[in-house]
Amino acid sequence: MTTLSLPRRKTREISVGWVKIGSDHPIVVQSMTSTKTRNIKETLNQIRRLYEAGCEIVRVAVPTEEDAQALETIVKESPVPIIADIHFKASLALEAMDKGAHGIRINPGNIGDESLVREIVEHARLKNVAIRIGVNSGSLEKDLLEKYGRPTAEALAHSALRWSEKFEKWGFKNFKVSIKGSDVLTCVEANKIFASKTDIPLHIGITEAGFGESGVIKSSVGIGILLYLGIGDTLRVSLTGDPVEEIEVAYQILGSLGLRKRGVEIISCPTCGRIEVDLPKVVKEVKEKLKGVKKPLKVAIMGCVVNGPGEAKEADIGLACGKGRALLFRKGVVIKTVKEEEMVQTLLEEVFKEVRS
Ligand code: SF4
Repeated sequence: MTTLSLPRRKTREISVGWVKIGSDHPIVVQSMTSTKTRNIKETLNQIRRLYEAGCEIVRVAVPTEEDAQALETIVKESPVPIIADIHFKASLALEAMDKGAHGIRINPGNIGDESLVREIVEHARLKNVAIRIGVNSGSLEKDLLEKYGRPTAEALAHSALRWSEKFEKWGFKNFKVSIKGSDVLTCVEANKIFASKTDIPLHIGITEAGFGESGVIKSSVGIGILLYLGIGDTLRVSLTGDPVEEIEVAYQILGSLGLRKRGVEIISCPTCGRIEVDLPKVVKEVKEKLKGVKKPLKVAIMGCVVNGPGEAKEADIGLACGKGRALLFRKGVVIKTVKEEEMVQTLLEEVFKEVRS
């Protein structure tokens, strides 16, 4: 069987602290804290939880001077590089860099006069700080809105290209770009246009994707399309709620496209009239118990003997259920037949053996 792999757009390499982005580096998973940054303890707690879940760069909001001051401690104690998210005030960007932020994210369109943006860029060069140029449909420059009538894909790409050219003209290269909108097609198209014209790394995501299932679906579709096109060097799944949940979704998107693996991938059948076991309950229990596993593993839990043995054989550990009993596979070989009441426990024991191996 041939294993397919997706091509990736060739980009230059940039660094946010010790994390490399672009070129052949793995696609980096990011998130953003939902705490008040000035509440250092809570912010660091959330950063550590994000890190434990697999987040590799964390962005924090810096709307006030107090938040900028808090960065000094946060950056020192964080296990991942920190990006300060700045809007409107160039002075906060300068302060965040002075307090040690590894990167800053600005939307140049809302910083004010171009000379202020240039001042930020000069300071970033001096401090060896990375910048993310953020372009959002909600804050496009006036002249582009007039030219295109509304925040079209072309208008968003135009804004991103224009700022990128300026940064380069000012001799600054350690930056990436994000072009985000809540409309999936506009967002995809804008990224496509930008990607076809430069080798600048792209941070991708669907902004304001929403809550729960609908947010997950919207993000997965948008990010999935871009990744399929080879676009995206770092990503964030934006969901309303605890940001830690974004990380698992991010790895599932990357894992389902074979771009990165982390944790257990559970393959289970949709069930049908042949089922003889409460499969949703079994899968839910197994999923819950394997939540903290970081080693990439494929676990199949199948409802009957039709597709069960086939899928179970392809997985690292597999269970093909039947009436009152199940076949347990390890690396494609049946290792035992287990009674229904023992199958979850036995499956988990085998998975943990594999985790330790
Ligand atoms: S594995 Fe069996 S129970 Fe599950 S969907 Fe296929 S045929 Fe139905």
